[in-house]
Amino acid sequence: MTTSASASSGSEGTIDRLVEANERYASSFAHADMDSKPALKVAVVACMDARVDLTAVLGLELGDIHTLRNAGGVVTDDVIRSLAISQRALGTRSVMLIHHSSCGMQTITEDFRHELELEVGQRPVWPVEAFKDVDQDVRQSMERVRTSPFLLHTDDVRGFVYDVKTGRLREIDPA
Ligand code: ZN
Repeated sequence: MTTSASASSGSEGTIDRLVEANERYASSFAHADMDSKPALKVAVVACMDARVDLTAVLGLELGDIHTLRNAGGVVTDDVIRSLAISQRALGTRSVMLIHHSSCGMQTITEDFRHELELEVGQRPVWPVEAFKDVDQDVRQSMERVRTSPFLLHTDDVRGFVYDVKTGRLREIDPA
């Protein structure tokens, strides 16, 4: 490592550690022939929260599902884009939505956009999609998937709230 590199920020050092972990992973890699179509034909839309380990929570193996994650697990236009490709090009048939307790999206409001605009002089084009009632937000997400004209399969769409204190999923009844 050069002197200038060692003077770099801590976050750069963290990515170095991740790249080193990848070297160890790749040294014993055994999945070269895996099919790109998810084995379980399921797409999961979930919050990006670091406490939610979908592989462990759902007992998954590599290649089982498509995973779409963003702040809140919100069904945005871009999530619909990915679901359309997931279903039409890669054969998934079911959609599982996973929000969780103590989500950061419950601590902010749409004022976040206004505050950003004041700070940077430009209003974001995207809505914040903040929410207070996590159950209601799961219902809204299910409705967005079920009513999308771009999706082939909207009969098996189920929504859940993951409890970060217990590790348990709780299913939400549709509206
Ligand atoms: Zn969250």
